[in-house]
Amino acid sequence: MKEILYKSTRSEDGYLNASEAILKGLADDGGLFVPTEIPKLDVSVDALSKMTYQQVAYEVMKLYFTDFTEEELKTCISKAYDEKFDTPEIAPLTEVDGAYYLELFHGKTIAFKDMALSILPHLLTTSAKKNHVKNEIVILTATSGDTGKAAMAGFADVEGTRIIVFYPHGGVSPIQEKQMVTQKGNNTYVVAIEGNFDQAQSGVKAIFGNKELAKEMDEKGFQFSSANSINIGRLVPQVAYYVYAYAKLYAQGKLVENQVMNVVVPTGNFGNILAAYYAKNMGLPIGKLICASNENKVLFDFFRTGEYDKNREFILTASPSMDILISSNLERLIYKISGNNAAKNQELMTGLSEAGKYEITDAMKQQLDDFYGNYATEEETAAVIRETYEKTGYIMDTHTAVAACTYQKYLKETGDDTVTVIASTASPFKFTRSVMNAIDSKYDKLDDFELVDELAKIGKMKIPNAIEEIRNAEVRHNNLVRVDDMEAIVKKLLAL
Ligand SMILES: *Cc1c(COP(=O)(O)O)cnc(C)c1O
Repeated sequence: MKEILYKSTRSEDGYLNASEAILKGLADDGGLFVPTEIPKLDVSVDALSKMTYQQVAYEVMKLYFTDFTEEELKTCISKAYDEKFDTPEIAPLTEVDGAYYLELFHGKTIAFKDMALSILPHLLTTSAKKNHVKNEIVILTATSGDTGKAAMAGFADVEGTRIIVFYPHGGVSPIQEKQMVTQKGNNTYVVAIEGNFDQAQSGVKAIFGNKELAKEMDEKGFQFSSANSINIGRLVPQVAYYVYAYAKLYAQGKLVENQVMNVVVPTGNFGNILAAYYAKNMGLPIGKLICASNENKVLFDFFRTGEYDKNREFILTASPSMDILISSNLERLIYKISGNNAAKNQELMTGLSEAGKYEITDAMKQQLDDFYGNYATEEETAAVIRETYEKTGYIMDTHTAVAACTYQKYLKETGDDTVTVIASTASPFKFTRSVMNAIDSKYDKLDDFELVDELAKIGKMKIPNAIEEIRNAEVRHNNLVRVDDMEAIVKKLLAL
């Protein structure tokens, strides 16, 4: 198999193999690791159509993580995609009203982050072993709600790792807080801070950058790492479900070989849709990549004008996991359409950090024809949830609804009747209040768990374990610290 190396999007120095890139997360120059080339799929769709999710995942990941042995990779995959998922299909496709919803929310925390965060801990510990890292890996994460829980669920009781999650006290939803403070696992720690998400994030960055502390950690047998979404170990596993979806549609006779399918992706940090772009570049017959934004529509404006401009009001929406003004993973696309020109990419990223904006060249813009961007307002998002429920009985979450609405706009504009897959990124049970209010405002007077019961009733759905578990779960974490004491509590938890 062709060896794939990884390099930074911001300079020409340093080529790493996959396990080193996974361990490092971010390049020293602040750039993101990209494969020196995007490998081509080397099995036929017909063969893929007879495979399980795990087998398809292996066929994709083996092409990128070329310094892992077959056994190492297969072990990581089988530990990740197991009974933690509530269906053996892992990522089932459901046909609703003419489109196929690729449900990426059947994992432990009922959101699509589980697809990558259930395998990252295993990729990370295998990488540590391969590179003779003796230290225990300590994952530090600041969260505004979703990522922290998914990361803890992934790392809980994984040997050789610990995870510490900081979240803003009073800054996450009651269900999110309950999910975190009841987290099991002897290697998980949750800390609320008396501050907001930005302060939690800055505090974590400061701890990462503290050389003195790193030295002290090393002496005691620890080192920090990150589970951030820019890690190549999170991006590559996401490519697999697009290949799986295509193979499934082929198996069901919905597509013939080489027939294209479009994908619609509710987008925030640009990781999920970038994975679809990688799948297309691997030879998977994907037509349009439809990028759906909520009212924080930086990406819609970018695809329209070629200018990325984050200087605007930050809007809190009912799809909070997409409330993002800096889509970090977009940098990998910018690098690619610049002709893998690290200097050009660096220049644009400097513009972003100094002026909050940049503009791509016409030549770069011409390479964005594969993409179509649009967005959904809050009212439109709620309307799609209600109308789809009334028409079909299917209840989708708010993030997925942003995608469904964007798809409707695309259809209206283009009339393109290509087979379409909509990435469905969260269970409606995760955003129960917004979903139920969208269906009927009478539900607003119910409390959180009454809403859960009502949703299960009207949608004729089983309440996911992730929700049942927290209903009566015991609180295991009750740390609350001042922002200035974040480092001190890390030391205390690690007994430094
Ligand atoms: C993270 C997230 C998204 C956005 O995905 P990106 O890869 O950041 O673009 C969309 N929906 C849900 C539910 C998420 O948790």
